[in-house]
This record gives sequence, C-alpha cells and structure tokens, in this order.
Amino acid sequence: MNHLSEKVKRAATSLILPVDEKRTGECKFCGHCCMFVYICPFLKFDNNNPKRALCMIHSIRPPMCRKYPRTRKEQIHKPCGYDFI
Ligand code: SF4
Ligand code: SF4
Repeated sequence: MNHLSEKVKRAATSLILPVDEKRTGECKFCGHCCMFVYICPFLKFDNNNPKRALCMIHSIRPPMCRKYPRTRKEQIHKPCGYDFI
C-alpha cells in the first residue's frame, strides 16, 4: 500500500472505527503526522519552540487527526508519543 492510499484508508477508518484500547502514551507535538504525503496548511510551529507543532484548527480538526494513531497498523510515523501495548 503506498503512502497516499494509506492516508485515504486512515481518513476513512477514522470516521467509523474507534481508537484501539491498547493505545497508550500521549502526543509529543512533533508534527510528523501532519506532514504525511503533504504538509498540512494548518500546521504551524511554535515561535518560542520551533520543534513544537501547533494545529491552527485544533478544536475542529478532523477525526483522522484526532484519532491518530488509531491502531498500531495505521501508525506510520516513528518516533511518536503513542504506542500500543
Ligand atoms: S507523530 Fe505522534 S507524537 Fe508526533 S504529532 Fe503525530 S501523534 Fe503526536
Ligand atoms: S488539521 Fe491540524 S492535526 Fe490535522 S494534519 Fe493539519 S495541522 Fe495536523
């Protein structure tokens, strides 16, 4: 499966499927998942900390962002603050 089809799949499954109960950890705001296939136009980096990603539409971000990584299989960015036990 190429990167584009992985992203399409991620968007589709996030609409109907829950986050895996085995997910643990927390987002480290690296922003890697916001630069997958293309750099999201809503991605910014903190002026005071250029390594900290900020989402300009955080409160209304789509399910594929809210739920990432939904499952270990859909987790393609490493390192990531989330893991699956
Ligand atoms: S790759 Fe993981 S840690 Fe980095 S922004 Fe995405 S969810 Fe957060
Ligand atoms: S909408 Fe926000 S969380 Fe989603 S990819 Fe863009 S910057 Fe990242």
